[in-house]
Amino acid sequence: MELKIACIAGDGIGPEIVGEARKVLDAIAKRYGHEIKYTDILMGGASIDVHGTPLTKEAVEAAKTADAVLMGSIGGDASTSPWYKLPPSLRPEAGLLGIRKALNLFANLRPAVLYPELSGACPLKAEISDKGFDMLIMRELTGGLYFGDRKTVEEDGVRKAIDTLVYDENEIRRIAVKGFDIARKRKKKVTSVDKANVLDSSRLWRNVVEEVAKGYPDVALEHMLVDNCAMQLVKDPSQFDVILTENMFGDILSDEASMVTGSIGMLASASLNDTKFGLYEPSHGSAPDIAGKDIANPIATVLSAAMMLRYSFDLDKEADAVEAAVKEVLKEGYRTTDIMSEGCREVSCTKMGDLLVEKLCK
Ligand code: NAD
Repeated sequence: MELKIACIAGDGIGPEIVGEARKVLDAIAKRYGHEIKYTDILMGGASIDVHGTPLTKEAVEAAKTADAVLMGSIGGDASTSPWYKLPPSLRPEAGLLGIRKALNLFANLRPAVLYPELSGACPLKAEISDKGFDMLIMRELTGGLYFGDRKTVEEDGVRKAIDTLVYDENEIRRIAVKGFDIARKRKKKVTSVDKANVLDSSRLWRNVVEEVAKGYPDVALEHMLVDNCAMQLVKDPSQFDVILTENMFGDILSDEASMVTGSIGMLASASLNDTKFGLYEPSHGSAPDIAGKDIANPIATVLSAAMMLRYSFDLDKEADAVEAAVKEVLKEGYRTTDIMSEGCREVSCTKMGDLLVEKLCK
C-alpha cells in the first residue's frame, strides 16, 4: 500500500520525536511491504522563521494532498522566544488552530493507557492502578460552548457575560459515528458523557447517540453524567473503553484521564475529519526546555503514528506491531529520562527509536 504522509516536525523537540516516529514507520513499511511518501511541511515557529507566518496556504494544500499528517509539536518558550512578541494571529499556536480548521478536524481522540511497567507514575492508589486501564476519549472539537456566540454586556450597572452552547443533530451524529466506529476496533463499549439532567444540548446529544447506536448492535452503549464520569475516572478508570463527549466536557475529562496515567511523554492523540484523513500528534507540547538534547521521549509520537496506521490506513496489524514493540521495550526496562525509575536503563530519544526499530525488524 502507498501511504502519503505529510510531516510537520514543528518546533522544540518536534524534529527529534518526529524523526524517531519516521524511523518506526519506515521499519513497518519494510516489514509489511508498504511504500511511504513523506512531504515535509513547515508550521508554527519554524514557518514564522522562514515565511513570517505560522501557516501558509501552500502548507495547507500540501497537507490536504496527503492521506494523513504526522505532527511533532509547535511553539516555544513564551517568555524568551521572539515568536511571542508577534500579534496573536501570527504566533505559532495560530498555525495549529488554522490547520485544524482548514482540514475540518472535528473529532479529537486521546487515548489514556496505563502500562503495567509505568504504574508507579499513576497518582492513584495501587489497588486502582494495579488493574491498569486503556481508554480513549473521543471529544467533539468544533462545536459547543467554545464556538457559540458570546458577549459581555452591562445591565443596570451590573456586568453580565453570556456564552452559548449550541449543537445540531448533524454535529452530534458525525462524532457519534466516529466513536462507535472506533469502539468496534477496540473493546466495543461506548460511554456517552453528557449533562442530560440539566442541558437541552445534552438531551439532544443523548437522543442522537441512541439513534446512532442502533446501527452498532455489537457495541455496548451506556450514558453517564459528566460529574459522575469525572469521579469514575479516578475511582475505577478500568471500566472505560471509548468515552464519547462534547467539546468542553471532553477538554476537561481528557486532561483528567491524561493525568491519571502520570506520563506525559507517552500520550498520543489524533484529530479526524469525516473521511479517513487525520492529524496525529503527541498530547504534549514542544518542550523547549529539553529541545536539542536528545532526551525527549518519542513514544507519544510513535504511538500517534500507530493511531495513524489504524485509523487513517486501516492497517490494524501494523498498528498492533508498533504498540507491541513499545510494550516490549518498556518491559525490558528501557526508559527515557521522563519515565525513568529505579532499576531501569536510561536511554536517549534516538536510542529509544532504535530499540523500537530493532523490535520491528526481528
Ligand atoms: P510541554 O508539554 O511542552 O512541557 C511540559 C513539561 O513536560 C516540560 O518539562 C517538558 O520538558 C516535559 N515534556 C513534554 N513532552 C516531553 C517528552 N516527549 N519527553 C520528555 N519530557 C517532555 O508544555 P509547555 O511547557 O506548557 O509548552 C511548551 C510549548 O509547547 C508552548 O509553546 C506551548 O504553546 C506548546 N504546546 C504545543 C502543543 C501542540 O503543538 N499541540 C500542545 C501543548 C503545548
